[in-house]
Amino acid sequence: MKPTLPTALPPEQLINELQSYGVRLVDPKAGADSRRGGAGPSDHKAMTIDGMTVMVPVHTAPAFESPYLVEKPDAFGRSRVRRDDLVLGEVTFPLQPAFYGLKTADGIPYSKIAVLHGADVLATTVLQTCIRYQSRTKTCQFCAIGQSLAAGRTVERKTPAQLAEVAEAAVRLDGVKHMVMTTGTPPTRDRGAAILAESAAAVKAAVDLPIQAQCEPPDTDAWFARMKDAGVDALGMHLEAVTPEVRKAIMPGKAEVSVERYMEAFAAAVPVFGRGQVSTYILAGLGDTREAILAMSERLIALGVYPFVVPFVPISGTPLESHPTPAPGFMHEILKPLAAMLRAGGLKSTDIKAGCGKCGACSALSTYEREGAA
Ligand code: SF4
Repeated sequence: MKPTLPTALPPEQLINELQSYGVRLVDPKAGADSRRGGAGPSDHKAMTIDGMTVMVPVHTAPAFESPYLVEKPDAFGRSRVRRDDLVLGEVTFPLQPAFYGLKTADGIPYSKIAVLHGADVLATTVLQTCIRYQSRTKTCQFCAIGQSLAAGRTVERKTPAQLAEVAEAAVRLDGVKHMVMTTGTPPTRDRGAAILAESAAAVKAAVDLPIQAQCEPPDTDAWFARMKDAGVDALGMHLEAVTPEVRKAIMPGKAEVSVERYMEAFAAAVPVFGRGQVSTYILAGLGDTREAILAMSERLIALGVYPFVVPFVPISGTPLESHPTPAPGFMHEILKPLAAMLRAGGLKSTDIKAGCGKCGACSALSTYEREGAA
């Protein structure tokens, strides 16, 4: 075995640096295929740093000019991260999952139904269209849900049977540990809760796999118990931005659902799923101040909601493709106190049964939690 190379930055700060600037890859084929387009964060590749698998931008505008370079993997699959002549650390790449090689009975590649995120998460967008995506004035400016569909990399509606088939194979062949089911928002009052519930029920009938469902707050809080009864273990309802002005500017359609409605929905969902099993995604770098993000996080933690704060990554082809990523120092100043607030509130990413907060690959937050605990 070759000796481990010295790491010139603490792991959580190296992750912040790489997620803010992205990386240039000497070997673009290293590791599993990167994800382009789709709902939520994209244009990343999974890399493992200091035992933590994180998503690092590789196809974004900042990544093409990143000062960080990841060398070609050696015979052990390890690559060095350099900045000029300085070696800052070492990364490995998770391998392409075996289930990507399979097709459904009707000939659809499994990778068009669900994909591997992070190290061990099966992720799917059950419905790849969204009422918010139809109009330029309403679309969430960061979202690329229609791009992977237009490029033929996914199918519009994943049926419960297809999801069950792929989930069973991903557990058996690749050892995935949990599943994230997100959805574009359909034109129904449940805002996607119904299709998530039927999808979770089908997966749970096929395989024992913890599931997080992600949707906007539905019209009635009764959906939370229905989703839980169907097999959903954890729920994500994503604020994305925390101040009304930023929400309105960045996501004019979704901002019609107020922050207060989210808070009511969180308060109703926590008793159903349990403290720490309800979470929200907050994108830092879209205009919310550090103080606003931390103040909202404090309210959320008091309710028992895990605030998963991630650095905004601009996706090519979206209205925000040229928006800058937040500086690593800005992330450090949010994530360090946030990790302390989570500890004080008794919430831990490792206690979450399924989902983005548990996976943690889109942020250095769980590394801050781990370092703080140590
Ligand atoms: S944190 Fe969520 S979106 Fe990011 S890689 Fe993990 S499962 Fe996917």
